[in-house]
Amino acid sequence: MRISALQTGTVAVKEVQREGRGRGPARIINVLRAKQWTEPLPIHVWAIEHPEGVILIDTGETALASEPGYFPRWQPYFRVAVRFAIRPDQEIGPRLEGIGIAPDQVRWVVLTHLHTDHAGGLRHFPNAEIVVARKEYEAAQGVKGRVNGYLPNRLPKWLSPRLVDFEGEPFGPFPASVPLTSAGDVRLLPTPGHSPGHLSVVFTDAEGRLIFFAGDTSYTQDLMLRGVVDGVSPDPKSAADSLERIRRLAADNQLVYLPTHDPEAARRLASRSTVAV
Ligand SMILES: [Zn+2]
Repeated sequence: MRISALQTGTVAVKEVQREGRGRGPARIINVLRAKQWTEPLPIHVWAIEHPEGVILIDTGETALASEPGYFPRWQPYFRVAVRFAIRPDQEIGPRLEGIGIAPDQVRWVVLTHLHTDHAGGLRHFPNAEIVVARKEYEAAQGVKGRVNGYLPNRLPKWLSPRLVDFEGEPFGPFPASVPLTSAGDVRLLPTPGHSPGHLSVVFTDAEGRLIFFAGDTSYTQDLMLRGVVDGVSPDPKSAADSLERIRRLAADNQLVYLPTHDPEAARRLASRSTVAV
């Protein structure tokens, strides 16, 4: 089963966003005021060519995000704390075509969360089943959603996702999981913290290895192993719990950890390099 890493441009954030510091509201103020930027980080999308249909994990960012006027001016985060660079040919539609998959062939699009650099490519998939946690979908709506950094007005008008509640059976240290495929080899896991309804996707391959698509649970593998929560998580306690669950899952299994913005993630996928806990 082919699994591909596709890169939809880059995003740079502040160093103190990647590796959070401080407590309470100071965390986000630190991020806004900091002067030190990360290098341009990849915005990954993952494609699993499963016998039951192509599964896409996240959709990356739209090229519109690198143009002036896309983000609301009143939101300080977009003004001072994030820099996107995406060309139209780097959007997920062309990226998929580049590996021989037509966007219409995608059966499921699973969104780890609804931040712009994960949901920005949705317009390419009007015919797929879009899957997102109910908690996340609700958090992203209306004025509250906008204040919290979502762009509900930029989501496609046709969007009517399948909303997931985490009530299924436990998976290792995770209290619940929801199967995506009938085979049960692709499951959704609750990993809240970075956002209220953040989820991760785990694929169990033929060798019994776990390929773990982590979204923004952490920005690198090292930060997950050290249990370091990022600087923008609205719920640092849940974020730390999610990282600890992943670490325990990696201790009990062969696990390949793939965060969206980790510069090493595509290489780890290619070599099926597992976490050493
Ligand atoms: Zn995010």
